[in-house]
Amino acid sequence: MNGNLLVVDLEFEARLKRNEPMSRHTSWHVGGPADAFFSPRDRADLLAFLVSLPEGTPLFWLGLGSNLLVRDGGIRGVVIDTTGLARLERVNDTVITCEAGVLCARIARQCVKWGIGPAEFLAGIPGTLGGALAMNAGAFGGETWPRVRSVDICDARGVDRRRDAREYTFGYRHIVPPAAHEYFLAATLEFEPRPGITDEAMKEMLAKRKETQPIGEWSCGSTFTNPPGDHAARLIEAAGLKGHRVGGIQVSPKHANFLVNTGEATAADVEALVAYIQLQVREKFDVVLTPEFRTAGEA
Ligand SMILES: Cc1cc2nc3c(=O)[nH]c(=O)nc-3n(C[C@H](O)[C@H](O)[C@H](O)COP(=O)(O)OP(=O)(O)OC[C@H]3O[C@@H](n4cnc5c(N)ncnc54)[C@H](O)[C@@H]3O)c2cc1C
Repeated sequence: MNGNLLVVDLEFEARLKRNEPMSRHTSWHVGGPADAFFSPRDRADLLAFLVSLPEGTPLFWLGLGSNLLVRDGGIRGVVIDTTGLARLERVNDTVITCEAGVLCARIARQCVKWGIGPAEFLAGIPGTLGGALAMNAGAFGGETWPRVRSVDICDARGVDRRRDAREYTFGYRHIVPPAAHEYFLAATLEFEPRPGITDEAMKEMLAKRKETQPIGEWSCGSTFTNPPGDHAARLIEAAGLKGHRVGGIQVSPKHANFLVNTGEATAADVEALVAYIQLQVREKFDVVLTPEFRTAGEA
């Protein structure tokens, strides 16, 4: 179904944005319009909205768009902006519940305050818990899923339930869910006691990032996953591509695995540069680089 033809309850109609440019919602700042864009206020509001949708309405779940390439033709159907799912609570000494729209940096900071960890690795990941669950985000040796005990999910019809973390398999920057078309609402995470912990380690990690990565520029972080036993950045640099440009997108001169929008890039520019890097690295080193980011929408 084309989301432009989508008819929703009057109650929701006023809150639905039509033809919302996705370049406003991705850290690459590229991407065409979403037919419809909905920002639920909380979990109940989200489930009520989903129940009200005509069956078969295509849905796209959005966190902070920090690992997402939306193509120039935009997204058909409804984009669900999850950032309103923002509850973060402590269940007991070491267990917390966290809704999908909570920012990773907030989890890291709050865990330090509660004296539990390790959650510091989440500090520099500029996304939501939902995105971190979908990607098994990680940094500095830490990863999201080893901390997960259960997740609350829902389907496209707004039916929610709890799943045990053991129903999922996970690996480096990916997960295999037990069923398709399910979306994260929240998770229960378990950490370890860290009495006396300060925010020193977190600050160090953030400083290290700033030193080596083009933080603050428009990118999606690491573009490619690291191939076994090597680093994508090393291969791209060795292929002579640091600083290489296609239209408005450039291989960062600071970190070769970051592609930076210098201001006017289109998604087509990003796709062209990604393909060019893959070709060059394969020809020179016989290594196939796999994109880490997700692609959505139409060309
Ligand atoms: C400067 C920079 C540094 C970064 N550093 C790191 C790093 O160190 N480590 C790392 O792992 N990543 C890193 N990233 C990438 C990115 O921040 C992470 O992958 C993050 O987890 C994505 O979260 P998000 O909320 O932005 O997700 P989005 O980009 O909005 O979405 C990513 C995917 O998750 C899906 N998704 C989002 N929310 C849900 C939900 N509730 N239910 C189901 N699916 C959902 C989306 O549909 C999409 O497929 C970096 C990015 C930037 C820009």
